[in-house]
Amino acid sequence: MPDRDLPTILVNITQELDALPIEQRGPVADYIPALARVSPEHFGLAVVLADGSVHVAGDANVPFSIQSVSKVFMLTMALQKHGDDVWKRVGREPSGSAFNSIVQLETEHGIPRNPFINAGAIVVSDMVLNGGDPRSAIGDVLRFVRDLAGDETISIDNEVANSEAVTGFRNTALANYMKSFGNMGREVEGALKLYFHQCALSLTCRQLALAGRYLMLDGQHPTSGKAIVDVAVARRINALMLLCGHYDGSGEFAYRVGIPGKSGVGGGILAIVPGKASIAVWSPGLNARGNSLLGTKALEMLAEETGWSVFMPGAGL
Ligand code: GLU
Repeated sequence: MPDRDLPTILVNITQELDALPIEQRGPVADYIPALARVSPEHFGLAVVLADGSVHVAGDANVPFSIQSVSKVFMLTMALQKHGDDVWKRVGREPSGSAFNSIVQLETEHGIPRNPFINAGAIVVSDMVLNGGDPRSAIGDVLRFVRDLAGDETISIDNEVANSEAVTGFRNTALANYMKSFGNMGREVEGALKLYFHQCALSLTCRQLALAGRYLMLDGQHPTSGKAIVDVAVARRINALMLLCGHYDGSGEFAYRVGIPGKSGVGGGILAIVPGKASIAVWSPGLNARGNSLLGTKALEMLAEETGWSVFMPGAGL
């Protein structure tokens, strides 16, 4: 019989996972110094329920680099701006390939498989940029995420953004390759600048779970009630998160956790239980696919304890 008390469930999960030794937490991303020096000992968990209550445990108020979790917010902005035209430039299929893979782009004529692999996210950034000024687009993204979370203190870590740019040879290659197929705007530099800055958004678990509320609430802004996106669009963003949110580990995540989620190489995951909860977890150590090792484990435990699943929507807390 599961313990139905959510605060107790969160504390129990945090205590159990926090007790694990370093060797069982996975290595942290080390492609840039700012991520390499993050301690693998962090663990944070935040859950916002549909009634607005917020429940946190562990390091839920420590900011971290959300990295590819930002791809969810950017897809939302691109869909707001371009509607279904987004799907002329990016697909909706799981890739089964690594997050930064270039191989499928050749046979698929520069159209990335989905908006959550790097190639797809760079095209989405290009659509959000829409030929405009990268600096003002970065400001728009920051304002959008702050508004979703209801928190003006959210910021972009410029050290991370600059390191992303300095080491971003593969992302630059992806952008140029897609440009050769005519699937990028005039200047790839602007889209890449926006992409590197969105990856450098710094949020706590609490802020991230708050920012994800619109996906739990059928696309509605949690306080104004206005549509961030239509209900049909919110449902489809969730579908893409379930099928494509963990790169070549997406099937495994859906099997083990059973709710939509998007991971980032900083060790964060945003997960959505439609109608019920917006969840953020952070543990910087990664598994072989670049997804948070303990973060995934925590969500698996949480789904098990609460009964939350998109495959049994009536079940659970
Ligand atoms: N900044 C990373 C990159 O583009 C993001 C990857 C991720 O979070 O999975 O390589």
